[in-house]
Amino acid sequence: MATTPDEHEVGIDDLLVEMLRRRDVPCPVCRYNLRNLTSSVCPECGHRLTLRVGSVDPPFGALLLLLTPMLMTAGVALFFGVARIFVAPPVVPLWGFQLIWVSGFLEALAVLVINRKQATFLRRSKLVRVLLTGFVWAVNVAIFVVAIVYGL
Ligand SMILES: [Zn+2]
Repeated sequence: MATTPDEHEVGIDDLLVEMLRRRDVPCPVCRYNLRNLTSSVCPECGHRLTLRVGSVDPPFGALLLLLTPMLMTAGVALFFGVARIFVAPPVVPLWGFQLIWVSGFLEALAVLVINRKQATFLRRSKLVRVLLTGFVWAVNVAIFVVAIVYGL
């Protein structure tokens, strides 16, 4: 039998009140002790409370390590793009800048997709995450080396 969202919320509220009946737990907003809470609202600050399941040690550091070089490239591309507004373009097109612009734009899009699908990344084994992160770092270092050494 399916439950409606309202029935689900009532169940969660009951579990929250039951959990806090004999425990000293501070309100996440005002730090008021929620022991003997009778509803899902903090009596001190009035914020609505809920009960959630969370991971003890989610590997968000791995996600940050994956996204860092992509954000760096996108940031440099944005910087060059803004600088281009104030500085006249060179007579001869510099393909190193264009490489960074194109890769920065593509990586900004990839960051948006990865951010939306982060659970897919976090579900992978540690080996897969490390390999993928190493690949992304290697590609970004290569982009900058090639752009700086051969294209600027
Ligand atoms: Zn509170």
